[in-house]
Amino acid sequence: MRTLRFSLLLVLAAAVCLSLNAQRGSHDGQGRIPAQRTEGFSSRELQKFAALEPIDTHTHVFQNAPAFNAMLERLHLHIVDICVVDDHSPFQKSLDAERDADLEVVRASGGHASMCTSFDPYKFRNSGFASGAIEQINQDFERGAIAVKIWKNVGMELKHANGDYVLPDDPIFAPIYADIAEQNKTLIAHVADPDTLWQPPNPAAPDYSYYMEHPEWYMYKKPHPASKQAILQARDHILAGNPDLRVVGAHLGSMEADFGEIAQHLDKYPNFAVDLAARMPYVMKQPRDQIIAFITKYQDRLLYATDLGLSPNADPAAAVKEWERTYARDWRYFATTDTVETESHENVKGLGLPDPVLKKLYHDNAIKWFPGIL
Ligand SMILES: [Zn+2]
Repeated sequence: MRTLRFSLLLVLAAAVCLSLNAQRGSHDGQGRIPAQRTEGFSSRELQKFAALEPIDTHTHVFQNAPAFNAMLERLHLHIVDICVVDDHSPFQKSLDAERDADLEVVRASGGHASMCTSFDPYKFRNSGFASGAIEQINQDFERGAIAVKIWKNVGMELKHANGDYVLPDDPIFAPIYADIAEQNKTLIAHVADPDTLWQPPNPAAPDYSYYMEHPEWYMYKKPHPASKQAILQARDHILAGNPDLRVVGAHLGSMEADFGEIAQHLDKYPNFAVDLAARMPYVMKQPRDQIIAFITKYQDRLLYATDLGLSPNADPAAAVKEWERTYARDWRYFATTDTVETESHENVKGLGLPDPVLKKLYHDNAIKWFPGIL
């Protein structure tokens, strides 16, 4: 599932590969911070973190593992467990097995997980596509799903018979969006990917190892790709055309390179929020005063999320270690003024955000944007 981290890919044998996490370890560190600061929570940190009843709104967990459930308990963590249909992944080719695994994780989590379902966009040419998708989605809502994911294969993979890429605002999807709004559920939109996937190879880019590993998503090498701008404009049409539909733009709404653009979208579309999943490297590289101002201004529209996963055959112990390390690092960055080591081994000073803002980022906004989550 994840991405730019070879080590993690190896450790988790992660099969799902849903999006990009920025890399760890591909830059040489400068002034490395002591090792213990890159490890998990201290007991004092854990106490503060857990007291927020934190929610990670973007995860992919498809294995019910006691060690993992124990971590959810220990951290007082709630997760949104997201399905996608991905024809590059044997496990995720069909939604059925994935939904079953997701529901099992939710059931075993003791109230610590909520399901985000999806639909199979590869069937878009079938007659009755939308009504079939709606029937399945509504069935998942009845089983407790709180959201529906649309994924980047819409815009970056599926094509019409004439060779044009299918975009997220294609009329074939309109009844699905209307249904999600009518059911008062939320659409998680991971459409497009970082800018670098439309650009010539750049070893210095945070996403370089991802597109080297996943040429199927390297749009720069495709003959006539949909432009990133066209895909995001299609997303914007959904926002404008469905004012009653809550849309959470995954991965900073794929506008990771320009926080001004994110701000403009949040200003323009009141039904839009963004999650931070797998884009902390982009957050952490913003000038400190500017990112504090941004988070402060949009404190009701940002959702803490990671894109972490646990695939069916992964080692739960290794995953738990990785999850806790990620939560601890992100927490230090947002909540303290300690020095934090980024994924590319640079040192940044924590933002020291005030408690009310932390509470929104880690808890309140998830409740608001995902009704039914708790
Ligand atoms: Zn994801």
